[in-house]
Amino acid sequence: MDIVAHALWTFVIVYMLSKFRYVSKYFNTNKKVLAAVIAGFGIDLLFAPQFIYIYTNIAVNGKNFHELAIEFPSWFYTWYYINHNYFFIALIGVFLYFKYKEYLVPIIFGLFLHITSDIFTHKNVFQLKPFWPLQQETFQGLVSWGNPVFFKWSWALLVISIAIVFFHMQYDKRIKRSYD
Ligand SMILES: [Zn+2]
Repeated sequence: MDIVAHALWTFVIVYMLSKFRYVSKYFNTNKKVLAAVIAGFGIDLLFAPQFIYIYTNIAVNGKNFHELAIEFPSWFYTWYYINHNYFFIALIGVFLYFKYKEYLVPIIFGLFLHITSDIFTHKNVFQLKPFWPLQQETFQGLVSWGNPVFFKWSWALLVISIAIVFFHMQYDKRIKRSYD
């Protein structure tokens, strides 16, 4: 998915979870929700080196994406596999456990959501190895997030979901006010 969709979907799902009794405690403050959302899109900021590589080759060297994609350098893939897998998440989890325990669940959840949705929406050159380094073959996604039909419908669904969340928030506020 694109980075904005990652952020918004994470927010929608985390908002819904915050209404469920047993998991609400993990998302009961704005900071925890924010941590989950930042984790949900932030992992793609690690794609910056590849993005710069693609951008400069297209804008400066006048290549087109398909030419480029045939000969991405090996670091391009290595760096991608290193930060887009479940073991990387587990490693961050260990760090959070010892350092910032209250953000452990929100952040891990945001990262987990990101990798899991990427597995199914990344095809061809951006296929994932979600269990790297144990896994050597890539996983072919079901549909590319850039597929025009998928892109249109998933964004339509996202906009509807955001609207529902927004109205629910207004409703929540009104309920709270009536108790004051
Ligand atoms: Zn990603």
